[in-house]
Formats: sequence, structure tokens, C-alpha cells
Amino acid sequence: MNFFELTSWIGKKISRGVPKLLNTKDRQHLIYVIFLVLICLFYIVPRAIGFSQQKLKDNTIVMEQYGERLKLSTGTILQDSVVVEKEREQLLNAIEERIVSFLYQIPDYSYIKPLETYLEYRPKLLEQFPSAVPLEKGGYYLSSRYGIRIHPISGRTKKHFGLDLAAKSGEPVYASATGIVSKVIYSKKGYGTHIIIRHRFGFGSLYGHLSKVLVHEGQKVAQHDLIATVGSSGSSTGYHLHYEVMKNDVKIDPRPSLNLKKDIYGHLIKLKLDTVVEQ
Ligand SMILES: [Zn+2]
Repeated sequence: MNFFELTSWIGKKISRGVPKLLNTKDRQHLIYVIFLVLICLFYIVPRAIGFSQQKLKDNTIVMEQYGERLKLSTGTILQDSVVVEKEREQLLNAIEERIVSFLYQIPDYSYIKPLETYLEYRPKLLEQFPSAVPLEKGGYYLSSRYGIRIHPISGRTKKHFGLDLAAKSGEPVYASATGIVSKVIYSKKGYGTHIIIRHRFGFGSLYGHLSKVLVHEGQKVAQHDLIATVGSSGSSTGYHLHYEVMKNDVKIDPRPSLNLKKDIYGHLIKLKLDTVVEQ
């Protein structure tokens, strides 16, 4: 008996016990509802809750082992450097594979911390998901965070699903990661003129209240590509960029992503400088 046969069998058994008050149609509905509940219990709920902390932990442990081996393989000067180089490449690929599966699994940036060390081995991956500020460095300030706040126009308490980055009108807006422009919307309400970009690993980003749009739907963009300019379109009280990050269609706090790339590259540059000094 497979899963579906089992659920319909259970459904039938239960519905037989239901008083005869229910007509056939109601019974069918009841079976349908029971079937949905069972699917939720056995299939969807464990998957939703258990995006699996354990799996993430396992990934981190394996990456740690690879990292240790990598250090050993680079730390010793062997005569046969081709073999060393080959092993190093294999280890780096294995680490990349783990990082990729990790990035697909995590629901938000709060899980990214243990990954930072390994991202240093494959920093190019940072280009593929939001990991940078979408505005010019020093050309903005954070005027509203992600979370519950009093709405500046309605005055009501409401969740703010993104960050507001206050900047001058016409300031350049850059894609925070490589991806494909999935939507360009011109509206007088809400987000106003806005762009949505789809990235790898189930990430997405939204840029709202724009003035000029410099990309079109379906266009492939690279991280840091100029896509628009800052405006105050839609329901906005001043010039700013409303910036959202989505993971698997859920709006998450983009804050930890803003300096992710900068921090990791900063550390890599420091490591390089340290080795130069040592030599
Ligand atoms: Zn906003």
C-alpha cells in the first residue's frame, strides 16, 4: 500500500464512522479535508519545519573537515605539486558543493555566519545572491529597518518588509546580486516604480520608489550593475530606496547581507597582506 492508498483508506475508515446525518457530498468533502490534513502532517509540515538544522550542521562539519585537509594540502611543500594542486582543487569543489546545498536550504541570513569561513574559499558565490549594498558606498543612510514599525503615512503599526535607504534623488541603484529581472512595474501606489530580480538559491530582491528604470524584464544583470535611480514614486514621504530580499518567496531581513561581500573580501585581502608581510 503506498502513501496515497493509505491516506484514502484511512479517510474512508474515518468517514464510515461519521453519523449518517452527512450526505454523500459532505462525506466526500470530509474525506478530502482529512486527506489534506494527513498530507500536511506527513509531508508538508516536517519539510517546512525541518528544512533541517541537522543537515546544515552536517554540511558545516564536512566543510570543516575539507577545510582542515585543505590547510594541510597547502601547508606542506611536496615535490609533486601537481598532485597537491589537484587535491586542492577537488577539496575546493567539494566545499563549493556543500556551500551551494547550504545556501539552498537556509531560510534567511541568520544561518550564514558559520558559512563565512568557507565562502572565503569560493568568494565568487557571493555574486549570486544578495550580499552587497544596492547603493553607492557613503551615499545613503538607513532610515527604516525591517520589522514592526509605525507606518509614516497611515500612522498605523505595520510590519516593514524591507529596509529604507535614504539617498538623494537620482542616485544610482545597483543590483545586489547577479540574476534575471523578473518584473519592472510602474505604479503610483505602494512600491511605486519598482524592480524585482530573481537570483540563485531561491533568493530575490526588490527595489522600490524608483525614478528611472534602466533595465527591462527578462534582462540578465550582474551584481553591481546599474539598474535604476533613486526616486520617491508610490507611497513614499521622501527620496529613498525601499530594498527587500526574498528567500523562497518569503521576505527576510536584508540587513546581514549588506556588508557580507565586503567583510569576506576584506578578510581575504587582510590575509593576503599578512602573507606578503611574512615573506
Ligand atoms: Zn520601505
